[in-house]
Amino acid sequence: MVKFVFVTGGVLSSVGKGITTSSIGKMLQTRGYKVTVIKVDPYVNVDAGTMNPYIHGEVYVTDDGGETDLDLGGYERFLNLNLPKANNITTGQIYQTVISRERQGDFLGKCVQIVPHITNEIKRRIRFVAAQSESDVVLTECGGTVGDIEGLPFLEAIRQMRLEDGFQNTLYVHVALIPILDITGEMKTKPLQHSVNELRRIGIQPDTVIARCKRMIEPEVLRKIALFGTIPEDAVFCSYDVASIYQVPLILDEQGMGRYICKRLSIPQRRSRWSKWKRFIQSVENPRFEIRVGLVGKYAGLADSYISMNEALRHAGAACEARVSIEYIPAEQFETDTTKVKQLRGFDGIFIPYGFGSRGAEGKIRAIRFARENGLPFLGICFGFQLAVVEFARNECALEDANSTEVNPETPNPVIDLMPEQRGVKRKGATMRLGAHKVKIKKGTLAFTLYKAEEVFERHRHRWEVNKEYWSVLQKHGLVFSGRSPDGRRIEILELPDKFFFFASQFHGEFKSRPTKPDPEYYGFIKACLDRKAGKTKAEF
Ligand code: GLN
Repeated sequence: MVKFVFVTGGVLSSVGKGITTSSIGKMLQTRGYKVTVIKVDPYVNVDAGTMNPYIHGEVYVTDDGGETDLDLGGYERFLNLNLPKANNITTGQIYQTVISRERQGDFLGKCVQIVPHITNEIKRRIRFVAAQSESDVVLTECGGTVGDIEGLPFLEAIRQMRLEDGFQNTLYVHVALIPILDITGEMKTKPLQHSVNELRRIGIQPDTVIARCKRMIEPEVLRKIALFGTIPEDAVFCSYDVASIYQVPLILDEQGMGRYICKRLSIPQRRSRWSKWKRFIQSVENPRFEIRVGLVGKYAGLADSYISMNEALRHAGAACEARVSIEYIPAEQFETDTTKVKQLRGFDGIFIPYGFGSRGAEGKIRAIRFARENGLPFLGICFGFQLAVVEFARNECALEDANSTEVNPETPNPVIDLMPEQRGVKRKGATMRLGAHKVKIKKGTLAFTLYKAEEVFERHRHRWEVNKEYWSVLQKHGLVFSGRSPDGRRIEILELPDKFFFFASQFHGEFKSRPTKPDPEYYGFIKACLDRKAGKTKAEF
């Protein structure tokens, strides 16, 4: 019988529900249980694909081409999973299905209602994931905060699941903030009590509470939470501030949470194995080296816009015993003041991330030129890859005003152009080239050294590509296309062999990077930054 764990949040959003959910998963995994994780997002968008990353954070891309909430990336990394898009459930999807069934006449004669029709569809989707994944435990994180109007149908659905699946097979976890008053240093439980009350009003009595606090909560505060929340004292845990997020499962397990979950779900108490995880934390927290990367982007003000890229850079750093500090540089500043680009000299490497539209594109091109001409290690991803082609065309191939037609539709030299199959596409949302596609790597190239394989699967999200008309002139001037689609029609990787490290890909390696298994292109970049800093004449991989 599959077990269900539901995680809700109270008091504030961004209180660490995602990390808590992943941590519960980790405690179960280290005990040998198979888990999967669902994120429920109460917004009406069908998926995150049409949302602005500057407001909502990055759009995460799954192997099967889903454009999902960034929390899925958090689960994949923490738990070393590859999740399908079905694991991100939104209000938009639920209503779309129910309304189209109504139009087909599936409910003929009936009045279609939130309860039971919407809630049934929510439960159906959760159970579908459970069946497909063949997991022992399915974790579901409910987005938003208890009390939000949009979240109510989801809470109602999970409330019903206790009735249908039984007490031993369902567990409600509530995560809420305990603020500390600056002046008295007192830990305040009242907001948490209110959010527990709000859950109860909806019909859910949480089984366990995780109090999110700056410091470990005092025993007397713990007792108060238990008493007012009607929760046994041994089911109240504290997630306090730690040096890295990877410690959270450890501190919760030390407090007995893993044992509690197994007992409550009636699954055997197995010994947990943390040694590999602890070794990884060691390498993250005790770096021997330091690397400074300049990330020149358009969404530079919100680190969450680049969360998978940040993490991939750090995973690569951990593999090289290096702490990677990332400075977010707004690309536009190089457009208004062209001398400013020189400040990039202070970095160990330049990274150009994904992007859309013309804002900041010229600034990024200047940054790429600076990196190339000054031998600074460079990594470009997707838009960063495309702009590296533009820069090379302009400054090495004398192709005047070369550009991407995304940035300038009138360019005389469209070195980056819309993919033919994208020309008729008008609709937005799930219409780009998405998900994992096979990439063929050429032997004898830097790409082959890094990937050590002739074929890899990498995740994509784009509409534009390198224009075939310009392949030969670019190659003639020294640009090497070391990765292509299997049919040879699409360029996937470029490199400049005479540079210390100049590498870019149309795909997004960051989506497959994992804490203990860094992605090859990110690893290559960070290793090159380190080797150059150490004064080596060549990067050693
Ligand atoms: N805007 C570019 C395209 O659609 C690049 C997309 C990206 O960076 N993800 O092809």
